Amino acid sequence: MANKRAYKPKPAYQTKTALERIRKLFKEAASAFKEDKKLSNRYVSLARKIAMKYKVKIPSPLKKRFCKHCYSYLKPSVNCRVRLQKEKVVYYCLKCKKFMRFPYKNKLL
Ligand SMILES: [Zn+2]
Repeated sequence: MANKRAYKPKPAYQTKTALERIRKLFKEAASAFKEDKKLSNRYVSLARKIAMKYKVKIPSPLKKRFCKHCYSYLKPSVNCRVRLQKEKVVYYCLKCKKFMRFPYKNKLL
């Protein structure tokens, strides 16, 4: 891959705190969801901003908690539908009516 712009990775302690903050924000989002869905969406966008700023990946279990199209916090059976389909978990966002697919096939086997 061409790397024209020099990029210094952020120090490990920073990415570590960034991840901790992301996890915390998702926890907050989960607890806020019942009372204020907009607030949980705000937590999701904050978590995404932190992830982008520190170039950390949002942990995969957390990636399933929000819609990758409209970034709203998803709660299965409340605002998203979860179905299994050919070795994939399919999340259907009821807000923007789009699908997300997560393969669950174990690649190690
Ligand atoms: Zn959506």
